[in-house]
Amino acid sequence: MTLKLGVIGTGAIGQEHIRRCSQVLQGAKVVAVSDINLNGAAQAVKRLGLDAEVLPDGKQVIKASNVDALIITSWDPTHEEFVLAAIAAGKPVFCEKPLAVTAAGCKRIVDAEIAYGRRLVQVGFMRPYDQGYRALKKVIDSGEIGQPLMLHCAHRNPNVDEGYTTDMAITNTMIHELGVLRWLLNDDYVSAQVIFPRATAHTHAKLRDPQIVLLETVKGARIDVEVFVNCQYGYDIQTEVVGENGIASLPEPSSVLLRSGAKRSHTILTDWKDRFIDAYDVELQDFINGVIHGELTGPSAWDGYAASVAADACVAAQKTPGLVSISLPPRPAFYER
Ligand code: NAP
Repeated sequence: MTLKLGVIGTGAIGQEHIRRCSQVLQGAKVVAVSDINLNGAAQAVKRLGLDAEVLPDGKQVIKASNVDALIITSWDPTHEEFVLAAIAAGKPVFCEKPLAVTAAGCKRIVDAEIAYGRRLVQVGFMRPYDQGYRALKKVIDSGEIGQPLMLHCAHRNPNVDEGYTTDMAITNTMIHELGVLRWLLNDDYVSAQVIFPRATAHTHAKLRDPQIVLLETVKGARIDVEVFVNCQYGYDIQTEVVGENGIASLPEPSSVLLRSGAKRSHTILTDWKDRFIDAYDVELQDFINGVIHGELTGPSAWDGYAASVAADACVAAQKTPGLVSISLPPRPAFYER
């Protein structure tokens, strides 16, 4: 069976996902696309050599009779509406993170999916598919470093444009950390605090950069995450887990050790597309396989909701000097792994 996909949003990651579904992965092809910028969508179809229809809006892609499943890669505030429409149409949907821009929006998706009665949604949290994160989780789960006590993390981007605002450091960037760390620790969050160090001169009027987010988990681990999106030097993701008996760190992406010009050096990646390129392939193949076999097992709408509940608290904590508590309702049986 070849799964026929509709893609809504043909910007940076939309084109990446279309390329991988068409040229790298097995079992799927893209048959319809849409973007608010129709001309851009048509150009993307042409550039990628696709035999796909360009439809005037996302809802038409969802309804199209030849589309079996959806990939949502439009901008964040549109995700909820498109995912809800996909559920209403009974079509499986892979939605890029964030699932919705607020926890309330994610909850509406959770409720709709439970009412439908079967998992239809996978959220684009790709880090659990990354070999480095998988290796780190294996070490933690083995018990070799004992219980995790503290985590020191960093999410650094070289720069962001002027449309990127202080809250987006949470809803668009930190959401990756919120998603992957609860998976890594098999834990949830109970409080958040945000601290603003001296701002970099490379930021702009609408963005306080960098930020430090402090989290506490149900099991009592403490996590600090530096979110620094104008760090200039590269796209750099760091995670160090301090346990009772040792410390485990996320592996660096492999790169040649260069001895040249009286220096020893490694290249640091600058583009997010390259840092997790294999993980994106594996997550989307997992989605395709899951749809074909009738069982989605990747990050769920509940995972998107849980991350979003924490994200809402972090956004509130940006405006409050102290701690903001995080309260996640019990996971419904529907989402038990
Ligand atoms: P982008 O390059 O700006 O692409 C978003 C596209 O969606 C743009 O072409 C935009 O058009 C279009 N769009 C906006 N509203 C739409 C609507 N109502 N219907 C259809 N298309 C619409 O951004 P991106 O970097 O590809 O990001 C897209 C999504 O993927 C975001 O939600 C982002 O958070 C997520 N993402 C995830 C990762 C990851 O690591 N998992 C990485 C990157 C991005 P205009 O440009 O004309 O507004």
